[in-house]
Amino acid sequence: MSDKIEKPDDEWRAQLSPLAYKVTRKHGTERAFTHDDFPKAPGLYRCVCCGAPLFDQATKFDSGTGWPSFYAPAEGAPVGEKQDNSWFMRRIEVHCARCDAHLGHVFPDGPAPTGLRYCINGVALEFQPQD
Ligand SMILES: [Zn+2]
Repeated sequence: MSDKIEKPDDEWRAQLSPLAYKVTRKHGTERAFTHDDFPKAPGLYRCVCCGAPLFDQATKFDSGTGWPSFYAPAEGAPVGEKQDNSWFMRRIEVHCARCDAHLGHVFPDGPAPTGLRYCINGVALEFQPQD
């Protein structure tokens, strides 16, 4: 998936809800326990901006944080990571490598088999149940 999507800022603003825009395009963070009410059925979580498949329901776990949490990206998903030193913290920022949407952060305190916790803003995701 190398078909990079670039749009002017006002197009993203018109396409997205105000909160989705703020989170994905302006590196915002939604309040905890506001967007983690997805169905439990098998399926894929897609980027709310460009529709790229990012996470699989099979890797989602209840982290108790109030944000959707996954222990790995979906196979072949365009999930990019980069160092984020804002707010005086050293964190790894997670984004959609296809459209540069900010998704959340990844922390090294997740469950097996990866030991990683992808802490993702639910408003950045769209759930698509499996057929
Ligand atoms: Zn995207």
